[in-house]
Amino acid sequence: MKKLALHWQILIGMALGVAWGISASSFGLMEFTSDWIKPFGTIFINLLKLIAVPLVLVSLITGVSSLSDISKLSRIGTKTIGLYLMTTLIAVVLGLVIVNVAEPGKAFSPEKREEFKAQYASTAMDKSSDAAAVDQQGPLQALIDIVPDNIFRAMTNNASMLQVIFFALLFGIALILIPRDKAGPVNAFFDAVNLVILKMVDIIMMAAPYGVFALLAGLVVEFAGDDPSAAAELLLVLGYYCIVVTIGLGIMMFIVYPLLIKALGKASYVDFFKGIFPAQMLALSTSSSAATLPVTMERCEERLGINREITSFVLPLGATINMDGTSLYQSVAAVFIAQAYGMDLSLAAQAGIVLTATLASIGAAAVPGAGVVMLVIVLQQAGIPIEGIALILAPDRLLDMLRTTVNVTGDASVAMIVAHSEGQLHPPVLEDIGLHD
Ligand code: ASP
Repeated sequence: MKKLALHWQILIGMALGVAWGISASSFGLMEFTSDWIKPFGTIFINLLKLIAVPLVLVSLITGVSSLSDISKLSRIGTKTIGLYLMTTLIAVVLGLVIVNVAEPGKAFSPEKREEFKAQYASTAMDKSSDAAAVDQQGPLQALIDIVPDNIFRAMTNNASMLQVIFFALLFGIALILIPRDKAGPVNAFFDAVNLVILKMVDIIMMAAPYGVFALLAGLVVEFAGDDPSAAAELLLVLGYYCIVVTIGLGIMMFIVYPLLIKALGKASYVDFFKGIFPAQMLALSTSSSAATLPVTMERCEERLGINREITSFVLPLGATINMDGTSLYQSVAAVFIAQAYGMDLSLAAQAGIVLTATLASIGAAAVPGAGVVMLVIVLQQAGIPIEGIALILAPDRLLDMLRTTVNVTGDASVAMIVAHSEGQLHPPVLEDIGLHD
């Protein structure tokens, strides 16, 4: 019997997970699900995270050292960062346009708006204190944070992927600059370790369908456990807000990226979507670009035929700094909160949101919920009450899933475009690694 393709397996795992979660909630199996099923989802995410740091380190070192010269590196670097900034700006502006047209926050009644201020002030404290720390730093803190003082500490801290990238870049550049005969063994070592790590990704991915089943079963049970007596008005308006964010994310996914890929990457976006579908499904179920990174890289190399020289540089950087979905979500959320509180944002204030949402999405860690923490910066800069975050926390996990999928798709699109412009797109080489589907 022909084996089902991996993305179908993942999709079936997700559907069964949701079905299980719903039945478990109605038949009182919630505790069983949290105790005996959800942990396997956590184990799966741990496995992905486990491989992420070594993968970034080794693939970046091999990627950079395989570039014949420094000028090539800086050319690819400039293109990549330019495209990342461009897609993020498109996302923020798109978010602002949609939220200003749809005005989801104005759907609340004026009395309700007053109520929110009082009711949610206390619950928002946790999130805001997290981000208050971020806000109190000096203007160059982001730059300081890129340079690690201890590479081992950087590797043990999930949020320091940029520091690992910095170290790997420096290492790779040094490797190009030393004599070839001396660099040879080091190159050979890292090439081999790279293959081992990619094989590990293959092995881990065999567990993906079961992993996403457990993740979604756990999520659904958690949602169902929430207070069901939430006010109908709140649910309706939040539903409207979620639809607005989703439409924005949908436009990025199905209009902006396909157009960019067609225009700048000269590639078929149907093949593109087919190629990265499993990575998108993983982003959806893990809500983490970092956890999805190993699979994004593998799919881009094997299915889209992007040379490792490009993926190893563009994708880890993108997972860390390019979050189109997050920036779009932040701009919609900020204006939504302002509308709910009856504030009219001037054009200048909205231009400020463009800047801060771009920076906040660059600074957001590629982990679940990072976007909502960094949203505080956007709110503070625009003078929007931070307590408003409590309003949007309930549906955040759902939106996190969707925006992470867009984040990952954005990274892969840019990889495709950069690869095309560098002449680094090859026919996919499936047999190379002997994959699952
Ligand atoms: N979860 C997102 C990601 O990993 C970040 C966010 O919370 O927006 O890409």
